[in-house]
Amino acid sequence: SRSFQENSQACSWSRSYSAEASLPKDENREGFKGHDMLAPFTAGWQSTDLHPLVIERSEGSYVYDINGKKYLDSLAGLWCTALGGNEPRLVEAATAQLKKLPFYHSFWNRTTKPSLDLARDLLDLFTAKKMAKAFFVNSGSEANDTQVKLVWYYNNALGRPNKKKFIARAKSYHGSTLISASLSGLPALHQKFDLPAPFVLHTDCPHYWRFHLPGETEEEFSTRLAKNLEELILKEGPETIAAFIAEPVMGAGGVIPPPATYFDKIQAVVKKYDILFIADEVICAFGRLGSMFGCDKYNIKPDMVSLAKALSSAYMPIGAVLVSPEVSDVIHSQSNKLGTFSHGFTYSGHPVSCAVAIEAIKIYKERNMVEKVRSISPKFQDGLKAFSDSPIVGEIRGTGLILGTEFTDNKSPNDPFPPEWGVGAYFGAQCEKNGMLVRVSGDNIMMSPPFIMTPEEVDELIRIYGIALKETEERVL
Ligand code: PLP
Repeated sequence: SRSFQENSQACSWSRSYSAEASLPKDENREGFKGHDMLAPFTAGWQSTDLHPLVIERSEGSYVYDINGKKYLDSLAGLWCTALGGNEPRLVEAATAQLKKLPFYHSFWNRTTKPSLDLARDLLDLFTAKKMAKAFFVNSGSEANDTQVKLVWYYNNALGRPNKKKFIARAKSYHGSTLISASLSGLPALHQKFDLPAPFVLHTDCPHYWRFHLPGETEEEFSTRLAKNLEELILKEGPETIAAFIAEPVMGAGGVIPPPATYFDKIQAVVKKYDILFIADEVICAFGRLGSMFGCDKYNIKPDMVSLAKALSSAYMPIGAVLVSPEVSDVIHSQSNKLGTFSHGFTYSGHPVSCAVAIEAIKIYKERNMVEKVRSISPKFQDGLKAFSDSPIVGEIRGTGLILGTEFTDNKSPNDPFPPEWGVGAYFGAQCEKNGMLVRVSGDNIMMSPPFIMTPEEVDELIRIYGIALKETEERVL
């Protein structure tokens, strides 16, 4: 019923991972044709036609490109710069640590004070379920790789060598190393990479709007998904399933908050078959959902937790795995038998990263960041959800300071726009033109702004979104 206006460049430029897709040749990019990087999640890096947006500096909720153009950073970098672009205390914490001890490791019972202190801080902060130990890594992907190794080691210690499979969910994102990409439920991460690894199974994506049956309530939908999970476990054999991994709110898969009662029902199934529950809190933790952790919000009692991103407000790379006493006791007794626990990275517990993370957590607490997110998020959520009536919007969904928009025709999950129209990419390009950066993935738009956003900045975000939406509507007749 619709067409796409002729003069659009979106068709020939359509690329699923970049807002650059339909960008008209723009003076802000003209000077940078191609580059020498094999760029992550970027199409066409081998082409001299590539015009990367080169970001040079940041300030609060804004970033500036190399030509001085200012953008509201609606994704907080990659869902991570929670304290914005120039928090002086984080810079001071890093500088002080760099001057005192820029590096020492944590192998062989040697370590540093910042890593010990940060472990203590995290165990105190996470209260959804008692956690006994923190293991440090450099990223969310390494956190999830470590989860798999810990779970296998745990089940080997318990004499259950066959209990090794992992269940993740369609559309989940858990990272891009071999194992974390395998856990992820996004086909683009598997295609031509010979993934997923055979020990990974995927169960339903809990996206009510897209997958519910006619007349099915959210609760009934959750019941059906829990039943499907149980059937999968029984089909595979519960003695072969080691762990279930989930993001409290799915992020990169399109921002999908769980339907009502979902985690209660899923946890009951997982528990019944002695399967560990791993909460991937890489995006959700430290306040983004208006609670310190996603587990607090959805009453999740995990056995293990993955953290990264806002842990240091992204000022230094760092991630962490939290492990419950039940699991860590088994791991300890096994490693004592073997003489060592042979897992770790040169930069596990890097003192500069830990010093920055300690300071970030201090700031989250001192400034009562959870409350701050709670007070600003209704303006953000309601202001954007007011655009739900647009004829090209299928669904706008989110909670706290995370929100996804999905463009579809006829308000239906079953009527996608032709991919070659590049509707999402066109919207992203309009945002960029008007001074805002969003994440585009196909016809999904994602936003997760810094926690420090002011009400005026939320107004600006909504205003630019509105302009970009109107311009996109005009293209899609
Ligand atoms: N887990 C989740 C939920 C994520 O969103 C991400 C990254 O976006 C990761 C894991 C991977 O983190 P990293 O990119 O730091 O490896």
